[in-house]
Amino acid sequence: MPQDPHAQPLERSPLGLTSDEFIASAKELAGVARPSALAAYRAFFRTGDVDAISLRNSESATREGWTLPVTRSLREESPEGEVVKFVTGVRGDRFWQAGLEDLEIESVLIPMISSSGARTYTLCVSSQVGCAMGCRFCETGQMGLIRSLTSAEIVAQWWNATHKIGIRPKNIVFMGMGEPMDNLDHVIQAISVLKDHNGPHMPVSQVTVSTVGRVDGIKRLGEKVREHGWHRLGLALSLNAPNDDDRSSIMPVNKRWNLAAVQEALLEWPRRTGNKVCIEYVLIPGVNDTRRHAEQIAEFMRPFGLLQGGRIAGKALMAILNLIPYNPRRHSPWPAPSEESVDQFLAWLIDLGVFAKRRRTKGREMMGACGQLGSEKIRGRKLVQATVSG
Ligand code: SF4
Repeated sequence: MPQDPHAQPLERSPLGLTSDEFIASAKELAGVARPSALAAYRAFFRTGDVDAISLRNSESATREGWTLPVTRSLREESPEGEVVKFVTGVRGDRFWQAGLEDLEIESVLIPMISSSGARTYTLCVSSQVGCAMGCRFCETGQMGLIRSLTSAEIVAQWWNATHKIGIRPKNIVFMGMGEPMDNLDHVIQAISVLKDHNGPHMPVSQVTVSTVGRVDGIKRLGEKVREHGWHRLGLALSLNAPNDDDRSSIMPVNKRWNLAAVQEALLEWPRRTGNKVCIEYVLIPGVNDTRRHAEQIAEFMRPFGLLQGGRIAGKALMAILNLIPYNPRRHSPWPAPSEESVDQFLAWLIDLGVFAKRRRTKGREMMGACGQLGSEKIRGRKLVQATVSG
């Protein structure tokens, strides 16, 4: 990747570059030898050393501006440990005139206890400031899209979790602010950095990209997944309604790509290593919580395999369903579902043969739960045109 000598420090930071790209950049801009550049890259990611000793005197690789600040963090207890939401400050760039010189992106560290009793963390990262998709149940969707993040700004969330918060995540999910498929070039580059064995060295099987159903993005990412080193990347679909009328009413993207188109794209997702597509379903009272909805989910899931008497019917199961109780956004027209209604809906799904699990709610009080990320300060300022109408 040719480097622009006038680029901002963050763009020359290891955060947005694979080790090979960083080594080439350090050589091109400052004549730094490969061993020194590689040592600096490894130290930066492995120990959080921003001193980059061997590059310290190099103008092109100044450490100044290599990282982004954590401006706030909040913690909330959950049965599996502390949920940590933290805010990373990013530049507003050309939006200064709009008074948005300081933008914020939110990330959440979610604890999980494995069957062996060990606690691990999943990092939920943002790919955009705000989002153009306008899903009605989502806090971020109420902000509009301010701008997409660069790959460095995405990886900065991993770096801040690991080296500033002090928690190295085991998994990464692109389920924070934004639609990853609306920023796919930077998302792919960020994953390239995250899985770099000289950098964060995150196994690609531990990374999941979640989409509301941008079919062109699913197809493009599917092409990437066919490449060596990408086979086990995870994909999640935010389904949330199993018929086109209901889905279009809460998710405008469905008017552009309907359920049949999304289902077809998911069936074409490469599954050479047998990894399953994750179907996310946010249960919203009075919107998508009837027995009829459960039956329609089973119909949607049928081509991916259903269970019969607890066993897989026919070929291997290709998708699993995560049931997520709705976390009310600010000024939400809907409440959270009752425990009984969540249990009832899950029981219907299982009865219908859907391989479904309930996702435990964590971080709801601090607006860090699923669908609740979004800065109050900049919400409602729609500065970039929506990708889909509706
Ligand atoms: S659910 Fe995801 S795609 Fe929809 S508005 Fe929220 S962040 Fe955007």
